[in-house]
Amino acid sequence: MNFDSLGLAAPICDAVAAAGYTAPTPVQDRVIPEALAGRDLMVSSQTGSGKTAAFMLPALQLLTEAHAVAGRGPRVLVLVPTRELSMQVTKAAETYGRNMRRIKTVSVVGGMPYPAQNRLLQAGVDILVATPGRLLDQMQSGRIDLSRLQMLVLDEADRMLDMGFKEDLEAIVARMPATRQTLLFSATLEPNIVRLARTMLKDPARIEIDSQQARHENIVQRLHFADDQGHKNRLLNHLLRDVDVNQAIVFTATKRSADEVAQDLHSKGFAAAALHGDMNQGARTRTLQAMHVGRLRVLVATDVAARGLDVQGISHVINYDLPRQAEDYVHRIGRTGRAGRNGTAISLVNAREHAQVRTIERFTAQPIPVTVIEGLEPKVRAFSRPSGPAGRPAGKPRGKPQGRSFRSGR
Ligand code: AMP
Repeated sequence: MNFDSLGLAAPICDAVAAAGYTAPTPVQDRVIPEALAGRDLMVSSQTGSGKTAAFMLPALQLLTEAHAVAGRGPRVLVLVPTRELSMQVTKAAETYGRNMRRIKTVSVVGGMPYPAQNRLLQAGVDILVATPGRLLDQMQSGRIDLSRLQMLVLDEADRMLDMGFKEDLEAIVARMPATRQTLLFSATLEPNIVRLARTMLKDPARIEIDSQQARHENIVQRLHFADDQGHKNRLLNHLLRDVDVNQAIVFTATKRSADEVAQDLHSKGFAAAALHGDMNQGARTRTLQAMHVGRLRVLVATDVAARGLDVQGISHVINYDLPRQAEDYVHRIGRTGRAGRNGTAISLVNAREHAQVRTIERFTAQPIPVTVIEGLEPKVRAFSRPSGPAGRPAGKPRGKPQGRSFRSGR
């Protein structure tokens, strides 16, 4: 299957070819024809699966034809949970729409100054990419007219619900034409997502993508037990010196610890910086840009700041602290192994975090192999491996680190 046979207009196929894509990913293959046929869709797919193009290409196709009614309101609205994701979706619209004339894409997100945002909106919009809170705010001030809306995309709907946007979403959707097409994307189609879909979608087709990437088979996972924070720092230092690390993202539990770890790494000579919600938008954008162009090698981030982050150079994800929610573990490790590449996800685990390992392993149904580095063995060998799918006792030296993916290793 190639893009030309999906029914997309030539300027869109040309832009996709110029982006270097030779074949649609599984989610694109299944979503694009159904979306072009005008159906509502409820899609489970992970970030990294190519889901952005799966909705953006049909959205652009819709814009190849003029709207019956003239006006300045958007014809396509993409709702996203975070500013970072909104930047990526906006960039995707520009990349795939580059051969089309006069496509105006505007991003409306919190943290952006109102005057600049208002000017952009006044100039007219084809594709609006927005976070729910700020969009509702702008709608209430009468700056956004959704009467011309033809397509609504709910991107990472599960994250939007997690972040408490349910009521905002309902209020926004209540002010849209019922004739619109709605495409919902979520990592999983859990009951709360299906309930949301029931109220916002019409007779949706359900598409579940069980790709290798969705199961993270292309990501080698492993964990190291650590005695304390000092031990974690030494392990981190050692791991980041590995030549196989092209770029890495290190996750911490708090903003403060992101700053501390980034500073520590910086003082050890790493091109490292922090990314978290206390930084102003300008600083966040500059840091992300530095990561994209490869000027930064290590990004130390909190979960919220790194949500949706798409940097293809990230070869390693390191959990300096384990996430509290197992879902966050899946989102974190999905920052590597993007666009068909392989990746490595390493967790540093102290005694207090041990129970979380079990929760994560249950959630992913994949045991995480324990690895020990010579010279950096944990002193405390009492971390007994919970019995269960993982099986292998923890803390037993196995010589060199030897991470392997559970599935491919069987
Ligand atoms: P997404 O899941 O939308 O965040 O996309 C993940 C990454 O895959 C992005 O960097 C895209 O540029 C890339 N990508 C999307 N579609 C394709 C494709 N058909 N072939 C190769 N790379 C792709």
